[in-house]
Amino acid sequence: MSIIRVHDKQFEPYLTANDINSRIKALAQQLDKDYAGKKPLFIAILNGSFIFAADLFKELSIDVEICFIKLASYKGTKSSGQVITAIGLDTDLFGRDVVIIEDIVDTGKTLSEFLPQLKHQQPASMKIVALLHKPEATVFPIPIDYLGFSIPNKFVVGYGLDYDGLGRNIREIYKLVE
Ligand code: 5GP
Repeated sequence: MSIIRVHDKQFEPYLTANDINSRIKALAQQLDKDYAGKKPLFIAILNGSFIFAADLFKELSIDVEICFIKLASYKGTKSSGQVITAIGLDTDLFGRDVVIIEDIVDTGKTLSEFLPQLKHQQPASMKIVALLHKPEATVFPIPIDYLGFSIPNKFVVGYGLDYDGLGRNIREIYKLVE
């Protein structure tokens, strides 16, 4: 692995495909154990999590369902500021064991605004699995129940994550050279 270019920026190798795969296997083992005998509903948040969600899902042995949603934010009224809504959530969450799949938790803003909306539907439980977390960037603390990697506060691409639309198809994760 060597330095790559995406658009106008340079990125250096950070996590290999091997690092990612073995971490995902460990996460799946833990999830298999914790959800044995249940039938959880995984909700993957697009676009960034599509590769992570697929790879994690393939490793699970339990009975499990998955759906994919996209979050759209728009300006609400002055008092509510930005409002985040889910597009494509057509499953009733009432009484379900829900597991949210997120690519990366940065400030935590997205999930902190979105999770209460899901909780409103009264799932039996709700946990979060995230591939990456930038603890130094936290503004809205989010409890991440299953975490792939804690990373420094640097911009990363690859493995589903993009820089301005490109880089999602890179098999490894690269970080911005500053
Ligand atoms: P948060 O709301 O936690 O600040 O941001 C979450 C979203 O920001 C992620 O789902 C992702 O789309 C985007 N994001 C945050 N950090 C990075 C990064 O380092 N690389 C890429 N490609 N996207 C990021």
